[in-house]
Amino acid sequence: MRCPACDHPEMVAVIRDETLSFGGQSLTLHAMHGDFCPSCGEGVWDAESYRRFTEAQSGLLRAVKGDVGADIRRIRKSLKLTQAELANAFGLGKVAFSRYERGETRPPATIMKLLRLIERHPELLAEIRGG
Ligand SMILES: [Zn+2]
Repeated sequence: MRCPACDHPEMVAVIRDETLSFGGQSLTLHAMHGDFCPSCGEGVWDAESYRRFTEAQSGLLRAVKGDVGADIRRIRKSLKLTQAELANAFGLGKVAFSRYERGETRPPATIMKLLRLIERHPELLAEIRGG
């Protein structure tokens, strides 16, 4: 097999560990099988390893998003608000926080900053809700 990137005539079969990183978390996949180019480093995983790679990638994504969701739920509960009440205070759609907490949608950074601010200064909530 020729290298798809640099056309080097010989890809080399390699078994190695591959580490994925995302959002401050990382995960190592052991004994991944692939063909790698000794010239440019381009590589192609075999079907089984590629499946493991994409599964690990989406698992890592869920784990990171899940943490944000748990964070939001914890702050919201400490404020004793329902998802709809919090969404209303921020001028968001009723289901916005349900999506954030389940990890379906990643909340904008501004929402997270506001939430953390309110968590430290709960007295600001009245002002946000009044405004
Ligand atoms: Zn190459």
